Amino acid sequence: MRPQKLFALFAPITTLPGVGPKLAQRFQVLLNTPTTPRIIDLISHKPVDIIDRSHAPKINELVENQIATVTIRVGKHQPSHSKRTPYRVTAFDDTGEIDIPFFHAHQDYIQEALPVGEVRVISGKIDFYKNRPQMPHPDFIVPLEQRKTITTIQPLYALTAGLSNNLVHKTIQKALDTLPTLPEWLDETLLKREKWQSWRDAVIAMHAPQQQKDITFANMARQRLAYDELLANQLVMALVRHHHKKTPGRTIKSTGTLRHKILSALPFTLTKSQQNAVQEIDADMANPHRMLRLLQGDVGSGKTVVALLAMASAIENNAQAALLAPTEILAQQHYENLTSIIPAQTGISCALLTGSIKGKKREQIYADLAAGKIDILIGTHAIFQESVLYKDLAMAVIDEQHRFGVNQRLALANKTREHNLDILSMTATPIPRTLLLAFYGDMTCSQLTEKPIGRKEITTKIVTAEKMDELVDGLHRQINKGESVYWVCPLVEESEMLNLTAATTRYEELQKTFGNQVGLIHGKMKSSEKENIMQDFQNQKIKILVATTVIEVGVDVKHATIMVIEHADRFGLAQLHQLRGRIGRNDKQSTCLLLYDGFLSETAKRRLTTLRNSNDGFFIAEEDYHLRGAGDVLGTRQSGLPDFKFADFYEHRDLLEIAQKDAALIIDADPVLQSPRGETLRMLLHLFERDQAVRYLQSG
Ligand code: ADP
Ligand code: MG
Repeated sequence: MRPQKLFALFAPITTLPGVGPKLAQRFQVLLNTPTTPRIIDLISHKPVDIIDRSHAPKINELVENQIATVTIRVGKHQPSHSKRTPYRVTAFDDTGEIDIPFFHAHQDYIQEALPVGEVRVISGKIDFYKNRPQMPHPDFIVPLEQRKTITTIQPLYALTAGLSNNLVHKTIQKALDTLPTLPEWLDETLLKREKWQSWRDAVIAMHAPQQQKDITFANMARQRLAYDELLANQLVMALVRHHHKKTPGRTIKSTGTLRHKILSALPFTLTKSQQNAVQEIDADMANPHRMLRLLQGDVGSGKTVVALLAMASAIENNAQAALLAPTEILAQQHYENLTSIIPAQTGISCALLTGSIKGKKREQIYADLAAGKIDILIGTHAIFQESVLYKDLAMAVIDEQHRFGVNQRLALANKTREHNLDILSMTATPIPRTLLLAFYGDMTCSQLTEKPIGRKEITTKIVTAEKMDELVDGLHRQINKGESVYWVCPLVEESEMLNLTAATTRYEELQKTFGNQVGLIHGKMKSSEKENIMQDFQNQKIKILVATTVIEVGVDVKHATIMVIEHADRFGLAQLHQLRGRIGRNDKQSTCLLLYDGFLSETAKRRLTTLRNSNDGFFIAEEDYHLRGAGDVLGTRQSGLPDFKFADFYEHRDLLEIAQKDAALIIDADPVLQSPRGETLRMLLHLFERDQAVRYLQSG
């Protein structure tokens, strides 16, 4: 339950005086909220710049594009003759004349605001029309004696159609008037050391920047709010960690019988980091608490075998394991992968369960699962539906392509009857340390840092799109030699529709040369369609697969050795690296061609060269983090991971570290947040809507 003190903050903005449904609608667009924005959403809209109105020149000193506050005497009014010409007021001072044009404005309003012969102070942006200075639609028009009411320094906000900066500013000010005073949740020593204000004062200060540096990340008000947000985040992580530590798990020790058979059937030996990961997982599973571990490793680093060995140890103990994949294609692929490396003499039985498996077949899987005839169930979220009953599920492997948030992980863990499931998450995104803390801080991490032996490094080249013809000729030769090609089309903004157009155009273009050897796959296709295309690519019926980036990163087509990425400069480093990881999966030399069109900016150049010079995902991730700031390394915007309003993972990385330590101390001393300070911290969790974790813990 949300504390009463916060009710006003979470009320819709229509509760503010003068904010009706129409205005609220515009704010909903501006703030990008699912429904009518709430006051909390509004006050989280940070200023992006300041408008300085202190500059008060004479008319003959006016400069184009400057914000000026000018004292004038009104000359004459010239009403507009047509819809396209403005209503024009001319005015003057002792140095010259200025025009004040209004488009589509109400005559009455203008006549009242600018009476002929009177002195007025006007403030706004200057431009020049036919060599005359003009100030279209001044932001302020006031009589001389009200000059003070013109805010000298005003915050500038991001705007949207139908919302002027004045209106946004005024509405935010109204919202600030309703801010409650909340009890302090931060530690007094920290507050003193950082010289931070209270939460309420910090929100107000953030909306009242006085100078340019007040709108930076380093601003104290902004820092305080960022810290609050990071602390809420780290508290959730610490709570979950603590909860896991205290929930009894089961003790699973590998007897080695199945593992031995699996290992001796493998055509390779484990790399050092695979061995380490297995050891770390073993220790977790043998320990009487629940495992919550993240296995991090580049595409192709060999996570599957590690996961299999972990599952095998559950099966050796007569229990079952489940593997959750984000899509049907990937579930299918995991199924095929696993069944191909599990030797028959182990007797391990695997089954695949996805949404498209229906009727008798599905019933049979349910029955076998309940009877314990299935050891490993692989599938999409269908495998954790209520109706799916396991005989004795001991561990789950989650392929994290879909980036589970901490809440989903909790929900999943609570699904099993005994609440003591061991969880191993796998991700192919090497995550920079700081982001790991923020998004996976509840988990311990194992890393696969080496490439399996025998893999050739991928050769990466940066190529201008002007060489398209040569490139296509080259592909012709390669294809005739039996190679397969991924052709990735650019991400045009965030619109899947536009991506599709780009990909379709390229597909049709390539078809002219390669005919039906070209295929197209994209996110708008049905999964059965996608599967067919992937199958054709796998069977080499299709030699060139044109794709938008939405196609699954985990997809494993071993004979694909060439990847063309169009407009590579539009992708993030980490994303490029991920894409590139789809080739280089056999012992042949693979090549990745990074295409760019026209001019390459300095940072884009650095990004692409980083990629050309390195194949190490962890290195690339850190580079990306430093080059772009936290940016979209994790792709948070598309991923469903929580959005951070104030904190920036790059600029505020020091704060994150403090918050982590702070949170650990708090939860150590007060695991369910019941002390007086704990109460205030619960308020903090509610404020940032991170209270689900608390609810899960209580119900769990
Ligand atoms: P990931 O899931 O990390 O992307 P996979 O587990 O799918 O990688 O492994 C990629 C390929 O490498 C598979 O064909 C797998 O059999 C092989 N492989 C895994 N470990 C090794 C190893 N230690 N030596 C050689 N090949 C390996
Ligand atoms: Mg894999």
